[in-house]
Amino acid sequence: MFPDQHLFIDGTFSPSVEENPTLFTSINPATSAPLARIHEASPRDLQHAVDAATKAFETWSKTTPVERSRILNKAVSILRDRNDEIARVESLDTGKPFSETSTVDVATGADVLEYFAGACLSGLEGKMVRLREKAWVYTTKEPLGVCVGIGAWNYPIQIALWKCAPALAAGNTFIFKPSEVTPLTANILAEVFTAAGLPSGVFNVVHGSGGVGAWLSNCSGVAKISFTGQVETGKKVYASAAGSSLKNVTLELGGKSPFIVLPEADLGLAADAAMVANFYSCGQVCTNGTRVFVHSSIKSEFEKLLLERVRDGIRSGDPLDPNVNFGPLVSEGHSEKVKGYIRHGEEVDRARLLCGGLKRAISLPDGKGLEKGFFVAPTIFTDCNDSMLICREEIFGPVLSILTYETEEEVVRRANDTELGLAAGVFTKDIDAAHRVVGKMNAGICWINTWGESPAEMPVGGWGLSGVGIENGSEALSQFVRTRSVLVENGGFQAVFSAS
Ligand code: NDP
Repeated sequence: MFPDQHLFIDGTFSPSVEENPTLFTSINPATSAPLARIHEASPRDLQHAVDAATKAFETWSKTTPVERSRILNKAVSILRDRNDEIARVESLDTGKPFSETSTVDVATGADVLEYFAGACLSGLEGKMVRLREKAWVYTTKEPLGVCVGIGAWNYPIQIALWKCAPALAAGNTFIFKPSEVTPLTANILAEVFTAAGLPSGVFNVVHGSGGVGAWLSNCSGVAKISFTGQVETGKKVYASAAGSSLKNVTLELGGKSPFIVLPEADLGLAADAAMVANFYSCGQVCTNGTRVFVHSSIKSEFEKLLLERVRDGIRSGDPLDPNVNFGPLVSEGHSEKVKGYIRHGEEVDRARLLCGGLKRAISLPDGKGLEKGFFVAPTIFTDCNDSMLICREEIFGPVLSILTYETEEEVVRRANDTELGLAAGVFTKDIDAAHRVVGKMNAGICWINTWGESPAEMPVGGWGLSGVGIENGSEALSQFVRTRSVLVENGGFQAVFSAS
């Protein structure tokens, strides 16, 4: 067990101020063993965090971009030095394989921090517009104030960094609420920022359930909410942010993304990508390409290639074993939800089960307590149709559905037949067809002949019910500032109410 985890407010780790604080327990999903007890923030703790961040804003917002950049870059190098240690904690807390967390989760978070530590050096400049000979307008980019990040459980430290990096670089202060399911690495991030020299109150961590997020969304002292999670929660956050004080929001929500294999595709490459697009992080990735549209002429071959990869390429087991690439789902509740969808696919949708499912147990090494973990076998359904529940709702687990089509016009129409618009991808050697099809996708994040990479330089944001706003890329910095316009007149003022 880790020691009890406290709140991080105003530069200090401390328990909740309540005499009888509410504690909750973080569970290792690979074994269901408890990992740590965590102090939930009460409304008094939350107000303390908002007050501390408000006070810190007075000085942090006045630092120069070079000063901020220097501190943030120091944090980047500490993150990289502590990479494996942080990755290990992330694997224990999320159940994601160390082979992923040690190569992707911390690294892509650090990359984004480095990107915004650089972007703020030139990305916060205003404009000067000449109006008349003696009059002009200039603009400045001003930070918003206290910004809040509310995270999902699938990429805890990466989400924390993707949210706080542009906020801090732009001169805002920040309060992060991790998911109560995966709270541990947020406190490590607080340690990292402290060691890097970030002043007290600039970055704060508050723990707890949805009620903590709801309190923050409703708090008038907060200027912006950046949220990652489910569509239904995102709607609540949006409503509360608007209803309380018309807060600025960024919402990164769910998806049911189409993965389109055109007849001329390199099928081996497409099969490799479909595996990543469905089984990486045990399928718990928002941009997963779960509706795999395959031209009918290549369906049998594609199914064969997928089955080979599941048989030879998936190595389930203890997430801390560096050879393992397939771990458990994040919690018992979530694994029951995913199993419910698989059951529905088998019994109600009556899709054909190609592999996995509920009855075929996943193979796990003995003697490590993994039989109590929340493992679900990689599952492929085929002969699916668009009306099946497994093809309409986000499952957020290792479930791939194959659908066939005949024409390009048909696959474009069916791929877009959803209110969600997070991601889409096309696989083909015909580059004209690739751009033509991608150009018709109702999706904010698209890939051609690849899937899943989301570098710091690439702006990402969902369309439709998948979200509001952008993370990463230079556009994200502008979401953490507001514009002040100043009109300067040196040519005299034309009086309207003068005695004539
Ligand atoms: P949830 O919506 O359940 O929770 C997200 C966060 O919101 C958690 O910290 C949660 O707290 C908190 N929360 C819950 N209720 C409220 C409320 N009323 N007001 C404010 N905050 C609240 O999402 P999950 O954690 O289940 O995450 C999975 C979802 O996230 C999937 O739909 C996935 O697609 C999406 N996602 C989207 C990404 C994107 O970039 N588009 C990236 C990653 C995931 P607690 O957990 O403590 O209850």
